[in-house]
Amino acid sequence: LISVQGLHKAFGDLDVLRGIDFTVDEGTVTAVIGPSGSGKTTLLRSLNALDLPDAGVIRVADSTIDFSTRPQREAIAEYRAQSGFVFQNHNLFPHKTVMENVIEGPVIVQKRPVAEATADARALLDSVGLGDRLDSYPSQLSGGQQQRVGIVRALAMKPKVLLLDEPTSALDPELVGGVLAVIKDLASQGWTMVVVTHEIAFARKVADQVLFVDQGVIAEQGPPSDVIDNPTEERTIQFLRRLT
Ligand code: ATP
Repeated sequence: LISVQGLHKAFGDLDVLRGIDFTVDEGTVTAVIGPSGSGKTTLLRSLNALDLPDAGVIRVADSTIDFSTRPQREAIAEYRAQSGFVFQNHNLFPHKTVMENVIEGPVIVQKRPVAEATADARALLDSVGLGDRLDSYPSQLSGGQQQRVGIVRALAMKPKVLLLDEPTSALDPELVGGVLAVIKDLASQGWTMVVVTHEIAFARKVADQVLFVDQGVIAEQGPPSDVIDNPTEERTIQFLRRLT
């Protein structure tokens, strides 16, 4: 469902991504792990054109872009619509209720009827245990509840792929489990997801594929039973050792 070939991205003089290649099958979960500053977030943001790559051919579901040819605005909009992005800090509108936050995209961007968008949002919020918080404001929710709204807000746009950038790293430890449970549930429903995470135990349990990113390249990739349990690259071994 996703194919990335020759992805490069620099910020000024800093070569952050230096030739990234991988594919993601439909209905699978890919965990992106690696040291701080290695380029994981930039890689994920490239899949949604939140950061525009300097080069690389990327296909996300029904849209393919060759970023070395200065893509048109319309092509980028179509590419971006293939995936939903969940931010580390959820980025909810503070002055809008939970329901208003969730239906904003479907109604304003996708021009869907309010009644239909509201019914869909209600079902999604129910499914993550927030059916009784529709009229709450983000500040009235816990960090974990806010992040679940952030996930629902992305799902409400009916993307083909869900991209999650360290979805639990801003949470108090006791709230992490609830959010990971929601992500696990989405995986079992067959959602295709790419998750940047520092939760190695979670990656081992839920991911079909692990990408270990180091200094802007994928240093090792494969199923968790290889990359996490039996890494062959010295860089992966050192990284995992530091975490445990
Ligand atoms: P972490 O685990 O700490 O979030 P990461 O692996 O996700 O790190 P990135 O956020 O992708 O790493 O950042 C990679 C490098 O690119 C870092 O050195 C960062 O400072 C730099 N960088 C990221 N975004 C920008 C930007 N918009 N402008 C300039 N430099 C940037």
